[in-house]
Amino acid sequence: MNQSIQDPVSVLSGVGEKRIDALNDLGIYTIYDLLTHYPFRYEDLTVRAIDEIEDNEKVVLEGIALSDGVLSHFGRRKNRLTFRINCDHVIVNVTFFNQPFLQKQVQAGNLLKIYGRWDINRKQLNGIKILSTGNEDQNTEAIYHTTKKIRQSTLLKLIRQAWDIYHPFIEDNMPLTLLEEFQLSSMKETIFNMHFPESDEQLEKARYSVVFREFFYYQMKLIWRKKQLKNSQFGNRIEYDVDRLKSFFRSLPYELTEAQKRVVNEVCKDLLSSRQMFRLVQGDVGSGKTVVAAAAILAAQTDGRQTAFMAPTEILAAQHKESLDEMFLDIDITVALLTGSTRRKERDKILEGLENGSIDCVVGTHALIQEGVNYKSLALVITDEQHRFGVNQRKALREKGYHPDVLFMTATPIPRTLSITAYGEMDVSIIDEMPKGRKPVSTYWIRPAHFDRLIGFVQKELRKGHQVYVISPLIEESETMDLENVTALQTTYQGALGSQAAVGLLHGKMTPSEKEEVMAAFQANELNVLVSTTVIEVGVNVPNATLMVIHDADRFGLAQLHQLRGRVGRGADESYCVLIADPKGEKGAERMKIVTETSDGFVLSEKDLEMRGSGDMFGLKQSGMPEFKLADINEDAVILEDARKQAILLLNSEEFYQEEAYAGLRNEIGIILDQQPILD
Ligand code: ADP
Ligand code: MG
Repeated sequence: MNQSIQDPVSVLSGVGEKRIDALNDLGIYTIYDLLTHYPFRYEDLTVRAIDEIEDNEKVVLEGIALSDGVLSHFGRRKNRLTFRINCDHVIVNVTFFNQPFLQKQVQAGNLLKIYGRWDINRKQLNGIKILSTGNEDQNTEAIYHTTKKIRQSTLLKLIRQAWDIYHPFIEDNMPLTLLEEFQLSSMKETIFNMHFPESDEQLEKARYSVVFREFFYYQMKLIWRKKQLKNSQFGNRIEYDVDRLKSFFRSLPYELTEAQKRVVNEVCKDLLSSRQMFRLVQGDVGSGKTVVAAAAILAAQTDGRQTAFMAPTEILAAQHKESLDEMFLDIDITVALLTGSTRRKERDKILEGLENGSIDCVVGTHALIQEGVNYKSLALVITDEQHRFGVNQRKALREKGYHPDVLFMTATPIPRTLSITAYGEMDVSIIDEMPKGRKPVSTYWIRPAHFDRLIGFVQKELRKGHQVYVISPLIEESETMDLENVTALQTTYQGALGSQAAVGLLHGKMTPSEKEEVMAAFQANELNVLVSTTVIEVGVNVPNATLMVIHDADRFGLAQLHQLRGRVGRGADESYCVLIADPKGEKGAERMKIVTETSDGFVLSEKDLEMRGSGDMFGLKQSGMPEFKLADINEDAVILEDARKQAILLLNSEEFYQEEAYAGLRNEIGIILDQQPILD
């Protein structure tokens, strides 16, 4: 039988249905999966001397058993194994809980190597496991992610078995030149040293090799896909009417910033090209992304094409509709709003208009590209703060026969390391300039104890006729608690402010029409204060609001705080943001300080990434952030850049497509040679 690294794990001895099931849970199906199920940390198994061990430290001790192990039972099905060992003339008590099977190893006179937690007062080692003696060359032990269904030791044994049988079949498609240039170890060496490292240097090199490979393969795939997109002829050539676009810009009450102009040009170039646009427009809150979207919508319309403009919430969709109506006041274009709360009759009319082409642009939530919405000629999809528009949505559209250009807009400043991984196949345009005259929002951090003074400040703003947002704490685990919190907070504010102010309430459990009613009242200044959960996070535009208060601010990400703060400072008046927080620890305090000191969304995002990792940043999971086994885009940013540079170089070289040395790598990336004329 031909053996291959892709054999199922069931070929190993001791792997029956139950084990297969347990391994599958860990994402392990094949021998390759098993061999690349790398440890996530290593324990130091060097035997330690007792006098240098601190209380509660996890250590390995070695000594001669002074007696056989005594097993005693207590409680329901609980037991304890106790014995003493002589460690270099110190008598140590050892206790193991609920591992009765260890008893047979503990016999008077045996040399034992025990890993456990040291209790300094009782001179006792609370045992975790008994290690085998004898293999002195290995002083670290790999620790794996596992589940209740399968033990560390079992996993390790299976990996050992897989290695012993299959290591001759481990292939390496990394070209020799790269192995040398980046000092990578071969795949075989890498796998061995990840699991059974004999020195720190070996382990370090193996880890570096894994990380480099992970980034490199991923970047190769991304950049390859991007090249293909660039060369696909499936898009629409939108031959827009330049004069009508120019007169639109002239009709605006302001001149575009240089950054806006640049981005509009980039977008228009994409529209005109016959390849499908796939562009992300990044611009801090208030940088003026909406007008860029408007320009693209109008461009499409001048060529008789339709646009679907998607916002994450109904409130935002309604606001976009309003902004567009205002900008298109003197322009001959038909824009409709279609959301979950659009009445049946109106909805039917809009659907008809989209199908017969009398509507040029429809604004709404993501339902716009789902269920029974048919377009006469959908050529452009714009999504605002909508990271959910991913591969599946694009596929759904393709299947309907649409190949629209896609424009993503986000105020979330995306650090470079993220943008070249999660968003790597897109082109990115950055609006890195604010409209003239924008003042940064003055931001303060106070402790909850100073709530009274805050109320004084709120009253001062209200007396000027201004309005105030209050954001209630975020308790992600519980919507019910969010609701309780936000309601209690409304009562607190209404109580403190008395008849001077009308305090409104907005939260995620309200129906869309309830929300809209509240927002309309706030917009009309019938409500002076709006207490809300983060549902108002993005996009809402009420220029008369000058103060943003955020409770339990330390629970939010820095980028998110910045977004919230962006709800104020939208008018001509001086605006403020007050963060209320009692953070534990220095790091928490530092985070609050950073927000008060910088108004640059990019800096904050970078800090966020540094301090919290990429895991919880803006729904990245949905956007298709790859899950690397070891690589961390933050900690390994330097390796990421190297790998990316190399991937670009290689994909732009002739040899890569021609030479046999790269065949394995081409295969890995999924490149079939007759696709080749893709060089830039
Ligand atoms: P965001 O990028 O946060 O979506 P908006 O598009 O809502 O920002 O723009 C914020 C505000 O700035 C709007 O009131 C808009 O009319 C205004 N604006 C946009 N571009 C300019 C500009 N070049 N000069 C002055 N004001 C502008
Ligand atoms: Mg916006």
